Amino acid sequence: MDAETKAHAGDESSGVNTFCDVALRLPPRQWFTYRIPDSLQTYIRPGMRVTVPLRRVTVVGIVGRCHSRNPDVAVKDVVDVIDDVPWFDSDLLKLADWISEYYFCAPGEALFAMLPGGLRASVDTVYHHQSERMRTTGLGPAEKRVCLYVADHPGALRAELLLKFPQSGTVKRLEKLVKQGSLSLRRRVRSSKIKSLSNKAVEWIGPRSGDEFKGDALATHLINSAAPVSARSIRHKFPKAPGQLLRLARRNCVRTVEVPTPYEPTMHRVSQQADLELTSHQDSALRTISKAVGSHQTFLLYGVTGSGKTEVYIRAIRSTLEMGKSALFLVPEIGLANMLLERLAAHFYSRVVVLHSGLTQRERALAWRAVHRGERTLVVGTRSAVLAPLNNLGIIIVDEEQDASYKQENPVPRYHARDVAIWRAREAGAICVLGTATPSLESWHNAASGKFVRLDLPTRIEGRELPRLHLVNMRNRSDPESLLTSTLEHRIRATIDNGGQAILFLNRRGYSGALRCGLCGEVCPCPDCSVAYSYHRDRRQLRCHFCGRHQAAPKTCEACGGDRFLFLRAGTQRVEDELAERFPAARIARLDLDVATKRGGAAAVLERFGRGELDILLGTQMITKGLHFPRVSLVGILNTDMGLDMPDFRATERTVQQVLQVAGRAGRGDIAGSVYVQTVQPEQPVFRFLESGDYSSFVAAELTVRKAHQYPPFTRLIQILALAREEAVAEDAMKVFVDRLSSSPRGLFKSVGPAPAPLKRLRQQYRWQLILKTSRVKATLRTIEKAMAELNKGSVRFNINVDPVQLL
Ligand code: ADP
Ligand code: ZN
Repeated sequence: MDAETKAHAGDESSGVNTFCDVALRLPPRQWFTYRIPDSLQTYIRPGMRVTVPLRRVTVVGIVGRCHSRNPDVAVKDVVDVIDDVPWFDSDLLKLADWISEYYFCAPGEALFAMLPGGLRASVDTVYHHQSERMRTTGLGPAEKRVCLYVADHPGALRAELLLKFPQSGTVKRLEKLVKQGSLSLRRRVRSSKIKSLSNKAVEWIGPRSGDEFKGDALATHLINSAAPVSARSIRHKFPKAPGQLLRLARRNCVRTVEVPTPYEPTMHRVSQQADLELTSHQDSALRTISKAVGSHQTFLLYGVTGSGKTEVYIRAIRSTLEMGKSALFLVPEIGLANMLLERLAAHFYSRVVVLHSGLTQRERALAWRAVHRGERTLVVGTRSAVLAPLNNLGIIIVDEEQDASYKQENPVPRYHARDVAIWRAREAGAICVLGTATPSLESWHNAASGKFVRLDLPTRIEGRELPRLHLVNMRNRSDPESLLTSTLEHRIRATIDNGGQAILFLNRRGYSGALRCGLCGEVCPCPDCSVAYSYHRDRRQLRCHFCGRHQAAPKTCEACGGDRFLFLRAGTQRVEDELAERFPAARIARLDLDVATKRGGAAAVLERFGRGELDILLGTQMITKGLHFPRVSLVGILNTDMGLDMPDFRATERTVQQVLQVAGRAGRGDIAGSVYVQTVQPEQPVFRFLESGDYSSFVAAELTVRKAHQYPPFTRLIQILALAREEAVAEDAMKVFVDRLSSSPRGLFKSVGPAPAPLKRLRQQYRWQLILKTSRVKATLRTIEKAMAELNKGSVRFNINVDPVQLL
């Protein structure tokens, strides 16, 4: 190994490393080199956080490697090191490098996305006044005012001063005052959230034997505890503890220490049940998977709904943990996966950590730390859990691998958790299991081409039938404003009369799509986005489902003053009303984002449904995933057209997957299930596949279409968006950019557009879109980067999204 490559590899043992490469949380996508001052030589290691100067401020960064390769340019010194142990090992640093390269972001943006918010630090710049005596000679009036303010407010934050003195010269003025010694400046790392991650505890340091403390219950308790005892539990058990402890401390027998708060899973502890006897399909899938643990292989576990995939996951995790390796289990949505968590808790309570976006910062930090220290070796979580600091990975499971929620669209890094999982598994020499009843076309294609090994579970457990699917033509319904056809209404009635339960699915929350004036036909649009507001009746509000903006619903039409509104495209709230009207005796509940955002709201509804206290559950896509309610015999899909009509090449695929997934909730118990799918376009060929339940024929047909139009999986897409407040600005910038791109190597990519994005305006920003199709993502990104570097972007922002899933 020559000197240069050695430095690159960050060899720590090779004497003095005078430089380090630091990842910062901002573009461009590169590492920034800094000098390590002598005082920090022995402390700085890769994976630690440091503070470094950047232009005029100090920022927190993460050290990627230390080396002795002197860069050609002048470098600044590292200011300080924050951590005493690294947060990131070499595997995670490498993962961040890959994410940065493939998904086009700064390595720091990838690394900070891995670190939970509660463990992040920021730097405050604070100012102090230098001398007792006001040194005001030679100062202008504005400088004097700043000085006086700081004298009155020692330790004033830089941000505070800029707010207090918004004049343009303040930054320069502060610099001058520091330079000439009127003010001093200090930088303070703020990482306050870490404190709550430890607790006070009492440790026994006195003699452990002898009769001296016989009869003293508190002392005996401490002597007999191997580890420090938390102060809280002492106060709880011994009411007079404060006085007693003080006396023991005077005798040098106890001392107070800070101990890290242990992680406690937020789930019920369930007793383990006897193992089920696996079906022959489950058994052979499990054998193949278990045999592969210890090497790399990606499996596509294609099992129809209710075929027992979860049981296979659990056994595979168990054998992996038994080998001393760790496991990662990704699910699309966890708030609703209580049943899954209970099953996991029964087996792995003391090993599992749950990571998802519904946690508080503290819960998330505790969980992350427990994984980082290797105290917990099984992570169950949603998308971002794929970045968990697991060591020695043996298996990664991605359940419902086709789910769109695995792709992070915003903010950066715009990664796809399934694809990151596959990459991580390969790097770690682990296996990856993609499980689903409806494989994505990408995974299907990869299995067909031999990249993945396909394992099938073709039948439901205990010989249960897959539910039959019936089409209902909505064009002939008598009341065109209603989403309930008489066919579906009869089925619901029959189901309830027979003691069964019904699930009704509608992919739109709120009361109606738009609020449309009955007189002039105008709809109320969100002022910030090019979409109509949705009407929410419970709060009499108009809400934008894209940006969240809301306002009170008007009483009269703003365009013509008319006072009668139409609700043409019904949402969940409106259907709920209609159901209550038609089934006055039925017990009905709604489950959508509005219900679920209240903490515990979704779980409460599902528990009531599970206990049989509800007859009808009405919901959005939240109810399509993973639910297992044996008494559900009817599933109604109220409006399939909304999904099919989306301007996206994946619209058909996604609709089919969603319909089959919701359909899979029916007939999981002793009563056979049936599914009613309502549509205004029953002649669409896609419904033939749905009626026959033939997913593989659907995939074959859809793949032909994709191939003809050169869409994934036959190519990769890179979406480039130009965003600006004025449409012409976004358009012009995009056109200049396209012009720059035209000098790229021929045949590297094909471009589609530029054109306004389907969602033309969002959050006050106009959006122009360009799509590149390529088989060489990294080379194309380098070309994009080059074209962009020469661009005078002005007030335009460019977003780059590799393998986009939502093309809106
Ligand atoms: P999937 O994830 O494929 O939809 P699940 O794993 O949830 O299916 O299994 C459906 C139901 O069948 C669950 O209640 C599960 O406990 C049960 N089950 C799974 N495997 C077996 C088995 N081998 N024998 C009996 N019941 C099983
Ligand atoms: Zn909006």
